[in-house]
Amino acid sequence: MAQTNLPKTILVVFGTRPEAIKMFPVVHALREDPRFRVVTCVSAQHRGILDQVLEISGIVPDYDLDLMRPDQTLDALTAALLTGLGKVMDEVQPDWVIVQGDTATAMSGALAAYYRKLPVAHVEAGLRSHNIYHPWPEEVNRKIIGTIAKLHFAPTDVSAAALLAENVDPATVHITGNTVIDALHWVTAKIEAEPALAAGLADIEARFAGKRIIGVTSHRRENFGGGLENIAEAIRRIAARDDVALIFPVHPNPNVRKVMDAALSDLPNVAMIEPLDYPHFARLLSIAEIMLTDSGGVQEEAPALGKPVLVMRETTERPEGVTAGTAKLVGTDVDTIVSEIFTLLDDKAAYSAMARAHNPFGDGQTARRIVELLANDG
Ligand code: UDP
Repeated sequence: MAQTNLPKTILVVFGTRPEAIKMFPVVHALREDPRFRVVTCVSAQHRGILDQVLEISGIVPDYDLDLMRPDQTLDALTAALLTGLGKVMDEVQPDWVIVQGDTATAMSGALAAYYRKLPVAHVEAGLRSHNIYHPWPEEVNRKIIGTIAKLHFAPTDVSAAALLAENVDPATVHITGNTVIDALHWVTAKIEAEPALAAGLADIEARFAGKRIIGVTSHRRENFGGGLENIAEAIRRIAARDDVALIFPVHPNPNVRKVMDAALSDLPNVAMIEPLDYPHFARLLSIAEIMLTDSGGVQEEAPALGKPVLVMRETTERPEGVTAGTAKLVGTDVDTIVSEIFTLLDDKAAYSAMARAHNPFGDGQTARRIVELLANDG
């Protein structure tokens, strides 16, 4: 790359809610820095729930491929992503392409950049479950990105070690923390300044006053089918207790909606609600006593807030919380989920052992580190 005093053009590519949450701190930091010209491109692999994050974070994408289609296959999505993102790259001619995480958008962004020999920087690099079907297809997506990237921003020493074990050049691997903590700090400060931003749960909070709140999210592809049915059954059994209430923002994916609507809509102490925007989700994290989830991001946010998190997966690529004892893998077996929740509700010592705030995923300064590394080309 030619050394000039011109700002570097950075093409930031993302498409889903979690990518947007983890990418907006980087976009903010790049925008504030005169050494860069930032171009944002969203695939809109998720539409509505992506737009919620764009709006709160003040990002108006320069390119919006608007690729979400009902019942889209991974083949069709990937083909459209490659073609669409490739065209944007030809037009923008960026110095760097940045992708985040492990979605089809991130993988296709890296591949389209590689086809043009453009350097790729990978935010949240090195997460591995070592099982290509859990999570599917993300484990392979991130391995492909790991093969292509010229700069790897690993959130922790665990993720950095996973890259080194795959013989990635150590000079290209940097432990930066995870931008999700930057995002959480940012949104928390924003809510403090403007409480109305997270006041939309007030009715539910009033309805459930005096109850112990469990926050639930579930959307994993590999849980579609039997896994989701088990999760629904576990929620029914937990909700049989009248001292608890479950707040469950339901992912818009119809596979999730159908199962949950059929199984849970008659329960007075289960609030199945629309996906929350990020400030309201931060509010849910703060009022919940326990989080029950199969999400990746929630596994990182909950420990930062000292909330025990039960992870409805067989494996996790985020073992840091499990190692520290603030997260526990409970899979999707009904009895296991119910008994782990009851233990946390009824055994004070078990609860306090898990309810320690700790921050293996960063100090909220990750975006700043990433920007410095990009300025120096690593
Ligand atoms: N989230 C949100 N609203 C919701 C549910 C989740 O803003 O109703 C946020 C959450 O704070 C986290 C991210 O979305 O940062 C996680 O996204 P998701 O669980 O969809 O994906 P994953 O992290 O598993 O890839």
